[in-house]
Amino acid sequence: MVKDYLIVGQGLAGSFLSWNLLRRNKSIAIIDQDHENCSSLAAAGMINPITGKRLVLSQRCEELLPYAKEVYHELERLFNKKFFESKEIVRLFGSKQELYEWSRKRQQTHLKKYYGKKQKPGTYADSLNDQKGSFIIQQGGYCRKLDLLNCFTDYFKENNLLVSGKLVYDDLKIKDDLVEWKSNYYRCVVFCEGYQSQDNPWFSWLPFNHAKGEILTLSNKDSGLPDAVISCGKWCIPIGDGKYTAGSTYSWDKFDCKITEKAKEEILTEIGIFIKASFEVVDHMAGVRPIMKDLNPALGRHPEFSSLAIFNGLASKGLLWGPFYSNQMADYLIGIQSLEEKVSIDRFIKKHFKR
Ligand SMILES: Cc1cc2nc3c(=O)[nH]c(=O)nc-3n(C[C@H](O)[C@H](O)[C@H](O)COP(=O)(O)OP(=O)(O)OC[C@H]3O[C@@H](n4cnc5c(N)ncnc54)[C@H](O)[C@@H]3O)c2cc1C
Repeated sequence: MVKDYLIVGQGLAGSFLSWNLLRRNKSIAIIDQDHENCSSLAAAGMINPITGKRLVLSQRCEELLPYAKEVYHELERLFNKKFFESKEIVRLFGSKQELYEWSRKRQQTHLKKYYGKKQKPGTYADSLNDQKGSFIIQQGGYCRKLDLLNCFTDYFKENNLLVSGKLVYDDLKIKDDLVEWKSNYYRCVVFCEGYQSQDNPWFSWLPFNHAKGEILTLSNKDSGLPDAVISCGKWCIPIGDGKYTAGSTYSWDKFDCKITEKAKEEILTEIGIFIKASFEVVDHMAGVRPIMKDLNPALGRHPEFSSLAIFNGLASKGLLWGPFYSNQMADYLIGIQSLEEKVSIDRFIKKHFKR
């Protein structure tokens, strides 16, 4: 029997794409190595429309954010579980330049809904050291990504779609417009392997620039912190029951999912500058963000073998970008929509692909 798609990897990318293909009545199988080295497990869950020192609105936020929220609500109805929570994000000003950026952007009518009001130092919460004051980032929130991934995993297992194990590349036999894998046939194999695509023999030519990151789960029932994300370079997200997710670090020299004392100290030291309470560390995780050199996602079919495709490059925005781009990828795979130039892997062919 021939199935339409074999999806390799069931992190956020593979899960969203599989769900989108099923909704289009396509037959699929998924293989995942039990989430080994899975970046989606380490994701903090934050959906933040404004990032960086220049307080920039995330690209295409006005389109992608409402789209993502709608998808989470749809998945909440499907799985009968709450995933997305709107949360205020309190962004502490780190410099006069940031204050200037905030006032400049808040004057623009279309941005006002994201750049909320300003607070004077010491007025938002006693538990914060906010010497330069702060402002509220609106429209953002928190996604319970572990619950979401578990629901997807259970759903795929219940429907006999998910195989546990590592796909060995040599086991794939490419035959004209079909791919054979262990005596089964697929019209297309879609690699959703996150940073592990760097070892993929068909797609390792893509210009990746992955970044390792670490996060902590902290506990203090008497921290006095408000029910809001506190952000000032590093951030701290309340996740209930006196627990917080805090992070994160960025490093570009080692791509593994091992936790380090150095990253733990970095997070604790930096959040200690703007949060007065101290915490017990109850968990510590590491992952590698799958990032392309130009920071855009990477979608498309292999330039020579059209029965091989990739959906990758969700960077540090898997929860914001995943819903939108998996929908675009699904439409592209079934042939009803072409990919946007800036996300299609065709943009890299001339410079990076050698036949
Ligand atoms: C510390 C940290 C914090 C983050 N915080 C956020 C956040 O707050 N908000 C946000 O939106 N994003 C965040 N991200 C980014 C987010 O995690 C990624 O964008 C997203 O998880 C990428 O998903 P993916 O499915 O492409 O890759 P992964 O999640 O890595 O999934 C790939 C899957 O493929 C499997 N796999 C790979 N190769 C094979 C093979 N050969 N055979 C079988 N299975 C295979 C792996 O085991 C894994 O399960 C964070 C990332 C890190 C590291």
